[in-house]
Amino acid sequence: MKCHYCQGKMKKGKITYTIDRKGYHFLMHDVAAWVCEQCGEQLFEEKEVESIQGLIKVLDSQTRKISTLKLHPVRS
Ligand SMILES: [Zn+2]
Repeated sequence: MKCHYCQGKMKKGKITYTIDRKGYHFLMHDVAAWVCEQCGEQLFEEKEVESIQGLIKVLDSQTRKISTLKLHPVRS
């Protein structure tokens, strides 16, 4: 596989995937991806993309629930 940016060689490896969303910062280690040896461009295969998108969907809805919870004030 060739990099679509620099035509360098893409190598299968594991990367750390991070994303900033509203209300949370998501970081996942050891995600399988193709990485360009030349420019570092990262490319996911379809099944990884689907898994990550599924995760983010769940995280988004759960985060919304948590952030709308009414917290009881702590009395001291
Ligand atoms: Zn490249």
